[in-house]
Amino acid sequence: MRVANIDGRLTLSRPDGLLDVAEASGGRFGPDPQQAFDDWEAFSRWAHEFVRDGQADSGPRPAPGDGVVWGPPVPRPAQIFAVGLNYRDHVIESGLSIPDEPAVFTKFATSLTGHDQPVTLPEGLVDWEVELVVVIGRRCHLATRETAWSHVAGVTVGQDLSERRLQLTGPAPQFSLGKSYPGFAPTGPELVTVDELADPDDLEIGCTLEGGEVLQKSRTSNMIFDVPELIVRLSAVCPLLPGDLIFTGTPAGVGGARTPQKFLAPGDVLVSWIEGLGELRNPMLSS
Ligand code: ZN
Repeated sequence: MRVANIDGRLTLSRPDGLLDVAEASGGRFGPDPQQAFDDWEAFSRWAHEFVRDGQADSGPRPAPGDGVVWGPPVPRPAQIFAVGLNYRDHVIESGLSIPDEPAVFTKFATSLTGHDQPVTLPEGLVDWEVELVVVIGRRCHLATRETAWSHVAGVTVGQDLSERRLQLTGPAPQFSLGKSYPGFAPTGPELVTVDELADPDDLEIGCTLEGGEVLQKSRTSNMIFDVPELIVRLSAVCPLLPGDLIFTGTPAGVGGARTPQKFLAPGDVLVSWIEGLGELRNPMLSS
């Protein structure tokens, strides 16, 4: 099952088109995409049945330029966790040593945006970091590896956009602030449930500049702390709540680690993709 936020409304995405959930469910589920997480189990049960049995009464899938707004699949998460230095090759390109514990920070919620939404570049050095984003579906505290995936509603593509000057300024680095300008947390286009994926722990992941070079390409199986391990370690401290996001870290190929360094510029279109999840496209604009 694939869930999107279209024009601010909770939407089911099928190969033949999009279905407005409030209309299709006769009002049983409301139009607010965030409310799907009030009772994710009931919603996903209904939605799986509807996707399987429902009539194809929807229009064709919208394309870029069709005038619809793809919002973030989870527009108002209670908590956003992000993990730095979680791929071995990215740790090495950063000149650091392999961590014993996940390096956790947050991206503030005002940085969220969706697919096909432009990002206004602030002053500074804005870098790309394609990441698998995990969406929690069921509250969990003190999770175990064995049950960790059962707390997950689905996964989506994300970018942990980062202004490197602010991120690395000061006696203690400013990860959360430097990664939270408006638009610095694009997610989407869709939340995809784990049953759609042959192996959710091993997905090809990458990003490119549209019409240009491949910037990053790896597999999520190269994570140092995999998704179950991140859920165990985070939920050992913080209860994870339905709708919470976990940005799981980025592989090698970021601009700041290159010689010479390379950063995003106005006119660039950043295309981020993960096998089975689709493409997240974001044009960069000047401020
Ligand atoms: Zn990151």
